[in-house]
This record gives sequence, C-alpha cells and structure tokens, in this order.
Amino acid sequence: MSEVWTIGKILKWTEEYFQKAQLDSPRLDAEVLLAHVLNRPERIYLYVHFDQPLEQSELAAYRECIKRRVQHEPVAYITGHRDFMGLDFKVTKDTLIPRPDTEILVEAVLQRLPAAGENTTLADIGTGTGAICLSLLNYLPKLRAMAVDISPGALAVAQENSLSLGLSQRVEFFQGDLLAPLKAKGELLNAIVSNPPYIPKADIAALAADVKAYEPMGALDGGEDGLDFYRRLLAESGDLLKDGGFLAMEVGIHQACQLDALAKDMSQWGKCEILRDLAGIERVVILWKA
Ligand code: GLN
Repeated sequence: MSEVWTIGKILKWTEEYFQKAQLDSPRLDAEVLLAHVLNRPERIYLYVHFDQPLEQSELAAYRECIKRRVQHEPVAYITGHRDFMGLDFKVTKDTLIPRPDTEILVEAVLQRLPAAGENTTLADIGTGTGAICLSLLNYLPKLRAMAVDISPGALAVAQENSLSLGLSQRVEFFQGDLLAPLKAKGELLNAIVSNPPYIPKADIAALAADVKAYEPMGALDGGEDGLDFYRRLLAESGDLLKDGGFLAMEVGIHQACQLDALAKDMSQWGKCEILRDLAGIERVVILWKA
C-alpha cells in the first residue's frame, strides 16, 4: 500500500529537505509552493486542511516545484506571482522580482503626490513587472502614468499586469532606452520614478545564487560602480519635469550619498531627500527640481 501524504506531513518533510539544501526560508517556501500547487493562494488553507491527503497528481506537481526550488530558482518564478503593495503581480524570467524594499519608494511617492489630480502624470523608467507604477496608479485613482522598459519581454508582463489589475486605461507603455521615449513625446511630468539596475560590476559574482542564476542581468548590472543609470537619469530628467516635480529612485547600499554629490554639481536639482529601508539602509533618493 502506498504511503499517505497529508498536507501537514508533506510540509514537514519539505521544510526539512529545504533546510538541508540551505534555503533561507524553508517553511515559508514549502507553504507558498504547496498553496500554489493546490490552487489556494491563501496559505491559511493549508492549516485548516492539515490532515487532507494529497492526490497523486498534486504530489507529482509539488515534487516538480521542490526540484526547481532546491536548484535555487526563486519561488516567485515557480509560482509566476508575487505580492507587492498588497497587489498580485505576474512575474516571469524577463522581469526582476519586486522586492519589499521597493515598497519604501512607492510609499514615498504616495506621500508626495497625495492630491494627484486629473493632470498629474508620472513616468516609471525600467518598469519591469510594472510593480511601481501600477501600485501608484492603484492607490492614486486620478494619476496617469507612462512606463518605459528596454525589454519587450518585461513590457509584455507589465502590460498584462495593467490589465489584470484593471489599470490599463491610465497607463501607456513604451519600449526604449531610459528617457528616450519620453523626450520624443515631449510631455512634462510631475514625477519620474525608477528602480534602475544598480549592482556594481564587482559585486555581481557575490550575488545569491537565486538572484544571479535566475533574475535578468539587464535589470541588475549597474556598470563599473553601479551608478551608470543614475548618471543618465540625473542628467536627463530635469528637462522632463514640471516646476515642483521630483525624481525618486531606489538605490543600492552606499549609493545615496554618491547621488547627492552628483546632484549638487547639477543646476537642475534642488533639495535632496534620502530615506532608509526597514534594515536602516539608505534606500531611496528623491531629488526635487530646482
Ligand atoms: N535589490 C536588488 C538586489 O539586491 C537589485 C535591484 C536593482 O539592481 N535595481 O538583488
């Protein structure tokens, strides 16, 4: 007689297996993947049905997920989804997986555009899944946005997310290099937001296997010192902003003060705000048009 695997038993087995494979969050990963296989996005289902036996087909599908995860494939690529700002985003290997740190950037922009009216427009440069601009659109019902990415694969995902979140009427997508499509359009913006690639070349080799082997290098590699994209954003954004507008960017560790220094040498920038993430690392830089 074949062994009966209940939800509780398979979770315990998988947690231990993931632990041996030195994954960072073995229990959480085991739960998220099983909830995905059972088509129950709420993990609470697992606890309410701890003694439910799994069907052979469910076991087989879960085994496939486990195999992928122990090779360090990120959970979000296996499930194809990630929650960001309380919204469900589709993710694929063409897109960086939205990080909790990036919610600091979104919240900072929400606080600075509180009364976004009909004529408030924002651009998201390097939109990836669209996580930043779509969550802003979701929480600011009158905002309009333009989202740019150089990767057609990423743009297709962002576009799909705009449809599934019911936000497609207020966002326009452009394939192109940083601000180029916006310059061509010539419309002035209230804000420009970006989480550009910012990992310095020398740090790429030391990235976690989950990141290095799976996430798109084009969304991570920021050049020699990690600042390549910021140099261009700082030089080119000022002309595209309305008076009173701002450029808000996520940055990597130790980069905020370097951006502040770069901005001080440019006449288009006035006040510089630096915000920390939950780990206390300077994570967001906001430059106000002078
Ligand atoms: N936060 C990402 C990481 O540490 C990097 C994102 C980026 O380069 N914009 O892996």
